[in-house]
Amino acid sequence: MRVIGFPAGALCARPGTDPELFFPDDTAPDYPARVAAARRVCAGCPVRTACLADQMRWEPTGSRFGVVAGTTPEERDALADPGHTGQADAA
Ligand code: SF4
Repeated sequence: MRVIGFPAGALCARPGTDPELFFPDDTAPDYPARVAAARRVCAGCPVRTACLADQMRWEPTGSRFGVVAGTTPEERDALADPGHTGQADAA
């Protein structure tokens, strides 16, 4: 989620939207439900395409956090590098 500098209309920046919604604890049992809730917000966001493009420009593969533009860190890793497994390569 990017709040600062985002164009008007970013739903995650709307008053009343809990920013924590976009940073669910991936070890918690409710992680899938929380990701789904964040995805629902992003699904209706008018700047979703620009949000994802901006995030993919600066966020390093393997070091991603949060739900952005309806995607999880693992999904963005896969977009950036389809062969990325999320694990260190064996030497
Ligand atoms: S797509 Fe989601 S994370 Fe991106 S600006 Fe919109 S609500 Fe925020």
